[in-house]
Amino acid sequence: MAKKGKKGKKGKKDKNKKKKDKKGTTADRRTVKDLLEDEIKDLYSSEQQLTKAIPKMVKGSYDPALATALAKHLRETQEQVIRLEEVGRLLEMKPTGKKCEGMEGVIKEGAEALEKEGPEPILDLGIIGAGNRVEHYEIAGYMTAISLAQRLGAGEVVTLLEKSLAEELGAEQTLRRIATGLMEAAAA
Ligand code: FE
Ligand code: ZN
Ligand code: FE
Repeated sequence: MAKKGKKGKKGKKDKNKKKKDKKGTTADRRTVKDLLEDEIKDLYSSEQQLTKAIPKMVKGSYDPALATALAKHLRETQEQVIRLEEVGRLLEMKPTGKKCEGMEGVIKEGAEALEKEGPEPILDLGIIGAGNRVEHYEIAGYMTAISLAQRLGAGEVVTLLEKSLAEELGAEQTLRRIATGLMEAAAA
């Protein structure tokens, strides 16, 4: 809806009107389905990047519970990649072809935590801070995609995405619990 006020000024939306995206859809014809496809591609790229990043976090962890939790989430992440491929089949689209720049940035910052030196609990807490940024970013993506899929009445897609969302929420909670324990061992 165009906002009232600022009379005479046409919003940016009008400027985009004739622009076409890669599918040849004009901007004003973009649908919930188009948006959902973009979100799925973004998530697919994120999960792919994470299958390479999480093993480094596992290796960098000192606390065995942290390493175990991250290793478990790596396996879940590999499942999530497969799940998104299934979502692609259901939506008759390819999940490939987009790079999630946001996740790339989050992972880059996480790599900084792995390069730091200091007492083990402090280093682990740094890894958890990075890991939970990843989880929150993914949670936002899955929640958005679920809402869009619900709007389309794509029940099977919703079910698949909700499975992954539950894993992300679980991972976030586990990391936070481990952090609580490490806090006591860490010098303030
Ligand atoms: Fe994930
Ligand atoms: Zn992204
Ligand atoms: Fe995750």
